[in-house]
Amino acid sequence: MAKVDGGLLGGGSLGEVPYVRPHPGARALFAHRAERFAALAHGHAAGDYLGFLSALATAQAVAAAHPRRPAPFQVAGRPLDLANGLLAGWRETLGPVLDALAAADMPEPARAALARLRLLPAGELDGLGARVLSGAPLAGADLAAAPVVGAALQVVWAGRAEALPPEAVTRVAEGCPACGAPPVVGVVLGDDKLRYLVCGLCATQWHHTRVQCVLCRSAARLSYFSIEGDEGPAKAEACDDCKAYLKLLYVEKAPRLEPVADDVASLALDLLMAEKGYQRLGPNPLLVVGEGAEA
Ligand code: FE
Ligand code: FE
Repeated sequence: MAKVDGGLLGGGSLGEVPYVRPHPGARALFAHRAERFAALAHGHAAGDYLGFLSALATAQAVAAAHPRRPAPFQVAGRPLDLANGLLAGWRETLGPVLDALAAADMPEPARAALARLRLLPAGELDGLGARVLSGAPLAGADLAAAPVVGAALQVVWAGRAEALPPEAVTRVAEGCPACGAPPVVGVVLGDDKLRYLVCGLCATQWHHTRVQCVLCRSAARLSYFSIEGDEGPAKAEACDDCKAYLKLLYVEKAPRLEPVADDVASLALDLLMAEKGYQRLGPNPLLVVGEGAEA
């Protein structure tokens, strides 16, 4: 049996469990996300928004295909640490995302917010990018533009993560080992039931023992919640010590699932958990909370 993070993993033939699952490349990642958002939009109460996010992910795939200059990464600690602020070149990613979105269906206020983005001076754009990155509450036009700014940040971070040599990403105590963002969801693989946590920013996935609170590492007061009658892949793992929860997505329930898309589509589970008084562990950059709204 393989022993990882102090936990025993089933299936005697597992061998060494890889700590990191790299993503399939930024372009393929966003193309898959676009396809999954489109599939989830059918018959969904938030179908229009999921349809818009499908167009946004398509725009991300287009932007990710633009040639990038090779960039250095930090050798000590996390190579793409978001604590160091915005990655150079993020603003250059926003233009191609906005161009590719031009033909997408969206409400007029959203279109106006995107048009404003094009006119913002670099300094203000950096300020907005930093606020979206930090998860700070936003209002007005900033709030309307936030998913697109978040999408541009994802393109630049996922593109940089794709270019990292495997040895650059080493084991860390918490957060994404490449960039430090908190996990957006956990994915439970279908075959061996391993759990990987997923970064909502750079899309790196890292292994974490199952049935253990990701925040305090205790298994003593965990419970699992799902929406009654919902056949989807999402369950919430809630810890009564931390009063926090992490959403888990089960691949065996939806083999085509895409972590970020399935997270947005299972928003009803977040509402249930908020009602029960649990706080979400990591934000989804495509679901930005407005000022005064309950987290
Ligand atoms: Fe990351
Ligand atoms: Fe906990």
